Amino acid sequence: MSSSPTSPSFAYRGRLAPSPTGYLHVGHGRTFWTAFLRAREAEGTLVMRMEDLDPDRSRANYVEAAIEDLRWLGIRWQEGPDKGGPFAPYVQSKRTAIYIAAWRKLLQRGCLFACRCSRKDLENALGAPHEQTQAGTGGKADALDDEPIYPGTCRRHSGYVPQLPGPTASALDTPGPINWRFRVPDGEVIEFVDQNLGPQRFVAGKDFGDFVVWRRDGVPSYQLACVADDAAMGITEVVRGADLLKSTARQILLNRALGFKDPAWYHCRLVVDHNGRRLAKRHDTLSLRTLRQRGLTPMKILSADLPVET
Ligand SMILES: [Zn+2]
Repeated sequence: MSSSPTSPSFAYRGRLAPSPTGYLHVGHGRTFWTAFLRAREAEGTLVMRMEDLDPDRSRANYVEAAIEDLRWLGIRWQEGPDKGGPFAPYVQSKRTAIYIAAWRKLLQRGCLFACRCSRKDLENALGAPHEQTQAGTGGKADALDDEPIYPGTCRRHSGYVPQLPGPTASALDTPGPINWRFRVPDGEVIEFVDQNLGPQRFVAGKDFGDFVVWRRDGVPSYQLACVADDAAMGITEVVRGADLLKSTARQILLNRALGFKDPAWYHCRLVVDHNGRRLAKRHDTLSLRTLRQRGLTPMKILSADLPVET
């Protein structure tokens, strides 16, 4: 059943990448448990990386809570913020230099354009606020996977020539207080075989548009930080929720532009509530913490027959 290579020279490296923006719920717990099992079955290394780049929502107490809750579930990792390791630091807010280097490389390769659109500009160009934003779960995919297709305003004004850096762009050394977007190759089909969900297919410019890689508030986007870290940490398989499938398509484009090798992908189906809605961090009744306080055991949580999104 396992697709893990058996060659002794193959060193599996997986990762757990929680965002400390709330308490982890049962869905996160199951996805992280899968990541743990995959690494263990491959006799590989599991890395814990804290994805705390969202300055508005990340909280130190959730960092502690995530580590505690995952340990309680029985998940063990070999490298991480609490353990150290050869690729430290394992906290994204301390890895800015790596992200700036990736941003610069993309800029020099002519993959980016500066975007001066405000949120209001985007809403006006796209019509009403996007439905997905309201239905968001507070997870990573909330503002990412379902990010509305960028209307192209600044791309049109950027004088962009494919494969050629802009006249002044490559001279820039730091991103500055502006959004930078990755120009996607419109119409290109991005295909990959997910280790769990099978063949996946997305069309650039249709399923997702020019996405932000650097935010005007001074932090890289999830997409950029994720590929830069997965490459720097030698991750060979990414296990995460199916809400990030479209992010994977974007990250394949980033990996190609940066010259990084794609890891294998394994997306877990999302646990939903009895109304079929995705679980949200703000809904506390299914947080690992609450379930534990109610006396449930890890075994019970991991083996429960929960509905999943199909
Ligand atoms: Zn713009």
